[in-house]
Amino acid sequence: MRRLFIAGNWKMNLDRGHSLSLVQGLVESLRGVSNVDIAVCPPAVYLGELGKALHGSNIGLGAQNAYSKPEGAFTGEISCSMLKDVGCRYVILGHSERRAIFGETDQMVNEKLHAVLAAGLTPIVCVGETLQQRENGQTQQVVRSQCVGSLAGLSHDQMLKTVLAYEPVWAIGTGKTATPAQAEEVHQDIRNLLESHFSRETSQNVIILYGGSVKADNAQELLSEPNIDGALVGGASLKLDSFEGIVKAATSIKK
Ligand code: PEP
Repeated sequence: MRRLFIAGNWKMNLDRGHSLSLVQGLVESLRGVSNVDIAVCPPAVYLGELGKALHGSNIGLGAQNAYSKPEGAFTGEISCSMLKDVGCRYVILGHSERRAIFGETDQMVNEKLHAVLAAGLTPIVCVGETLQQRENGQTQQVVRSQCVGSLAGLSHDQMLKTVLAYEPVWAIGTGKTATPAQAEEVHQDIRNLLESHFSRETSQNVIILYGGSVKADNAQELLSEPNIDGALVGGASLKLDSFEGIVKAATSIKK
């Protein structure tokens, strides 16, 4: 039985004061939610302080990135054990912005994934096609190849501990959401791929989020699709009302 999961990716937004008041507002307003898993992924510099503010709440803390090596001369990087130390439970990996702007490859994502799992954190691995790839009819091929490369070498158990996020690049931050049918088609195909690489049982138990302009008013129809298990939310996670609205939409869904 897969639980719905809503995670907010704040990216490089919000200052310290706004971060803290958003987290305090979310703790208060989402206190009663028990049938949906919730996480926020703030900028790394605020993780420690926000981890304390979230302590004892039903909202998990996540990082937006991690490095694959445990320690050493890697200026500017943050290890998985450091993230764990400040209260992180989740780490987003391979977001399309990291792939496009910072040159992250499937192999780099894969190395990070193994490090995140070894540290006992839950990875959220992002995959998704560009508009051009979709228009060229390459969506399935691109998403499958990102999954195969990013997930290489995982055991069944590790696959079950990994969350996937299908995020069509053309829908991120653009206001253009994939239709529920478009998203469901890719989610179903990812599950088919997982079945062929792992097992039917594993494929049926992996959480696969959708991301790309999810808002309070389109969440319900997306999350009602049988293979969509939640949302990775960018812009709409930066405001209390909109993130709360998405989580509340998720609480009302029966699958
Ligand atoms: C994201 O960056 O993961 C994302 C889905 O952004 P947005 O919701 O703003 O499209």
